[in-house]
Amino acid sequence: MALIDGNVIDGRAVAQEVRDRVRREVEELVASGGTRPGLATILVGDDPASQVYVRNKHEKSREAGMQSFNHTLPGDTPQDELADLIVELNEDDSVHGILLQLPVPDHIDSDAMIALIDPRKDVDGLTPVNAGLLALGKPGMVPCTPAGCMDLLRAAGTELTGAEAVVIGRSILVGKPMQQLLLAANATVTQCHSRTRDLAEHCRRADVIVAAVGAPKLVKGDWVKEGATVIDVGMNRTDEGLVGDVDFDSARERARAITPVPGGVGQMTIAMLLHNTLEAARRQAGVAAHS
Ligand code: NAP
Repeated sequence: MALIDGNVIDGRAVAQEVRDRVRREVEELVASGGTRPGLATILVGDDPASQVYVRNKHEKSREAGMQSFNHTLPGDTPQDELADLIVELNEDDSVHGILLQLPVPDHIDSDAMIALIDPRKDVDGLTPVNAGLLALGKPGMVPCTPAGCMDLLRAAGTELTGAEAVVIGRSILVGKPMQQLLLAANATVTQCHSRTRDLAEHCRRADVIVAAVGAPKLVKGDWVKEGATVIDVGMNRTDEGLVGDVDFDSARERARAITPVPGGVGQMTIAMLLHNTLEAARRQAGVAAHS
């Protein structure tokens, strides 16, 4: 299957490859006597977008041959009850990955709840232990969206060693881990954010731009260096539908490779969640983890 069409990176095709590989490897693990990997999700409240995300995660995990356990709690669930559930799932041997769907209602301290997740089951890679391991350059659970961006860069054949990379955004979920992954791949990384002076100039010298902002079409075509690779993480619902943080039509004129929205990074997040759940199951079974 072609992973790139002209200069447009086909996130659906790359994600399908990851899901197919995970499904094969799940069966190999089970055939060799291992437990079937199990993913537990926790959804607090009835946010419609979160319900869709959680439903997709279950559908895709079952397609990959995994067990999936869904815990839906009312929006007014006390924090203690949520904490008890996380502790229970930490101790449940059939659960290898635990995902707390964010955002949680305001009365819940999401950082405190995430910190309760056993780092070995933290398939979102958000616990302080896994964030610390990534910062130290040691193996751990890597957050799904930036891990997916790295796979897309590989699929596009982008040389990262020595490359100038600009990451726009510094969130814990995307921007920061992205910066660390690019650094680990020997890129020279500039991290930009809302206080960055002259964002356009930083972008113009970049061989790789990763935009994770949440601002529709912020990155203009004339900010993109000829031959650069552009990864657009943004998902912005606008009157013209779902658009990214990059002005795709003008940027694709100059980029060597670029991800579309939709059909780019969004496809990779669930695929990498499945990858992480499989790795978690392998590690918990004492089977050597894959890269
Ligand atoms: P976030 O937590 O809101 O962080 C946004 C970052 O962008 C912040 O670091 C902010 O800087 C920076 N920023 C805001 N305005 C800026 C500007 N004008 N110039 C430069 N930087 C600016 O968002 P996030 O969770 O990282 O998500 C970013 C985008 O990715 C959103 O559209 C989200 O929906 C999307 N997303 C997609 C996926 C997927 O699966 N495709 C997954 C996760 C997120 P400060 O730190 O200075 O405030």
